Amino acid sequence: MRGSVPLRTVPRFPERTVPVFTIQFDLFDSATNTIFEAKTYPDFKKLLAESGCTKCPLSEGRRHIVVDRGNPGAKVLMIGEAPGENEDIQGKAFVGRAGQLMDQMMKELGIDTNRDTLIANVVKCRPPENRAPKQEEADQCMPFLKKQIALMKPSIIVLLGATAVRHLIHDKGDFSMEKEAGRFFTHPDYPNIQLMVLYHPAFILRDPRKKPVMQEHLKALKRLMDESGAAK
Ligand code: SF4
Repeated sequence: MRGSVPLRTVPRFPERTVPVFTIQFDLFDSATNTIFEAKTYPDFKKLLAESGCTKCPLSEGRRHIVVDRGNPGAKVLMIGEAPGENEDIQGKAFVGRAGQLMDQMMKELGIDTNRDTLIANVVKCRPPENRAPKQEEADQCMPFLKKQIALMKPSIIVLLGATAVRHLIHDKGDFSMEKEAGRFFTHPDYPNIQLMVLYHPAFILRDPRKKPVMQEHLKALKRLMDESGAAK
């Protein structure tokens, strides 16, 4: 099990630059194309939230398309799995028990998740009974997340849990969160972005014995934010 992560192993990264993504959409109708043509993050968010998207079956049971929570001008993007019940009701990401735990753990380190980060998910609509999103659902929704990344231009992306790792890093293969959590790495799909894996806070709720490990990982994230100017 990993404790703190030596930051000297983390390469410095340059000032924020525009990541180059190939957004592949085999969708798309004109309404969806309008979303992808948005030039600013607020425009994109409004268009997607109000789109009534039905690109995948998750549209059937949702109340809200949950785009994010936090500050799109921040340098840290945190990516979780999917909205849960509270998120679906409120239309905001990470506002349930897991989100509250994340907020509290980060606040203890001086990180305000609403000011210093933007939080989003692999899929924008709540899966039934909070199951993990299916591959085809994640595939349909991924262009929206890629567009979020392209507009936000984060310096650091934190992958919260195995689902985020699996769908964002396709060549990861078999991996264990036990080994990956707390790790920093870079990937050619995300140029000039420092990636980090963290336990999903819902996992910490299920297994509180892992909380001290997660706290060490968050301290490493805070050090990286301080070093790179990502902390306010
Ligand atoms: S999860 Fe994504 S692709 Fe599926 S309906 Fe919701 S917004 Fe559309």
